Amino acid sequence: MVDDPIKAAVHQLRRLPTIGEKSATRLVYWLLRNAGVAKDVAEVLHLLEEGICECEVCFNFTGNSPCAICRGSRDDHLLCVVEEPQDVLAFERGGEFQGRYHVLHGALSPLDGVTPDRLRIRPLLERLRHKDIQEVILATNPTIEGDTTALYLARLLKDLDVRVTRLAHGLSVGTEIEYANAISLARALQNRSEL
Ligand code: ZN
Repeated sequence: MVDDPIKAAVHQLRRLPTIGEKSATRLVYWLLRNAGVAKDVAEVLHLLEEGICECEVCFNFTGNSPCAICRGSRDDHLLCVVEEPQDVLAFERGGEFQGRYHVLHGALSPLDGVTPDRLRIRPLLERLRHKDIQEVILATNPTIEGDTTALYLARLLKDLDVRVTRLAHGLSVGTEIEYANAISLARALQNRSEL
């Protein structure tokens, strides 16, 4: 048994982003006063480690591979390439986009060691070779890394028989897709342009 469960809980919560010592302590004492919550939270957190994998088709996080979006009936000609699984969630919230997704799991940033081989680029090329995809929408973030990734992919896809577009800059520079509201995301999608 842990000698001091309160201290241990504070220590573990502090490992999370944006949680400092004060917040962690507040959360722990709140959990002590609200019986059952810690157990419920622990159970679903455990599932995150044990019950989640990457979809073998789109690489989004899912409980079952292929994921529900890949299994579902969607427009097979449209493929939206995003940096992170949270970006899929942002597009799905709007409900505007009816095509399929491909999650890169990051954006190119050579200085941080994120080179093309670290992203799910090879499986993207495989998909494009074997599926009847007519348009690839590069929906990486409007950041230096996102733009670099989009340009890199555009060059890579140039020789394939596929239309390559980029989200319009309806999103203000620096606003990551994950945090964009549904209306500006829908507008950026509608006004996308050829790369
Ligand atoms: Zn999938």
